[in-house]
Amino acid sequence: MTLGILAAMHDEIADLIALMQHETSGAQCRRIGMRDYYAGEIDGQPVVVVLARLGKVAAAATTVTLIREFGVNAIVFTGLAGGVAAQTHVGDVVVATSLIQHDLDARPLFPRHQVPLLGIERFATDDTLTRELLHAAEAFFANNLLSAVGAETLAAFGIAQPALHQGLIASGDQFIGSASEVARLRALLPDLLAVEMEGAAVAQICHEYGVPCAVLRTVSDRADDSAHVAFDEFLRRVASHYSAGIVRQLLRRRRISGRTGAPRPTRMSENG
Ligand code: SAH
Repeated sequence: MTLGILAAMHDEIADLIALMQHETSGAQCRRIGMRDYYAGEIDGQPVVVVLARLGKVAAAATTVTLIREFGVNAIVFTGLAGGVAAQTHVGDVVVATSLIQHDLDARPLFPRHQVPLLGIERFATDDTLTRELLHAAEAFFANNLLSAVGAETLAAFGIAQPALHQGLIASGDQFIGSASEVARLRALLPDLLAVEMEGAAVAQICHEYGVPCAVLRTVSDRADDSAHVAFDEFLRRVASHYSAGIVRQLLRRRRISGRTGAPRPTRMSENG
């Protein structure tokens, strides 16, 4: 069972690629369509790791390649997002249970947000993989957060007790960085937790190919007028550690069979 792992930015997968190079099997790099696909193992689990780049088209193209060229059996996207719901704070993690393309609007031919000719507005993620990812994030928070990120950095970004959320994520080819845009999105999608630029495209392709997918997002900003401030620093000092730490916890869990029936995490908000 090979897991495909995508991210939009280099720092989100750099540690994973370094880990693959430490495994005895090493990592093989294939360049396809201007992207580098690293195939190998992490903690003994077969993976293909790739930088998808930003936006829905980039994410969709990369997902197709992972499925058709590398035959991955499941896909996980790890990245950043703007927190839109009141309860999604910087440093929290959001795991998608469904994803929508907030900028897709082919009215009056099709209802707003509906993918033309597919008849779907919200793409559901895979239940089992999503549950595994939630457990992985919870284990990372409980066991690795402090050592991976460090108390000083957590304090610098005002992260005290990061929370884990599950629910609706919206994707679009726009960086959302104003309170009025957030208000508009919340009015359209009252259960929306976070906004980003790739997840729903990955979910659509996975739906079309029948491949299980899950999406994990670290909240880097509040999608408001200050969203762009400290973005790169947050990515480098905080989110890169979240990505690597949570994906490793996930792979560990996948290696131990029968873990998917474990009890649900307790401290978590459920939405959508
Ligand atoms: N500073 C980066 C740009 C990041 S764009 C650069 O200069 O290259 C934002 C990335 O993080 C996208 O991959 C998107 O999925 C996610 N993201 C984080 N916050 C977002 C927001 N407020 N709106 C949209 N996407 C956001």
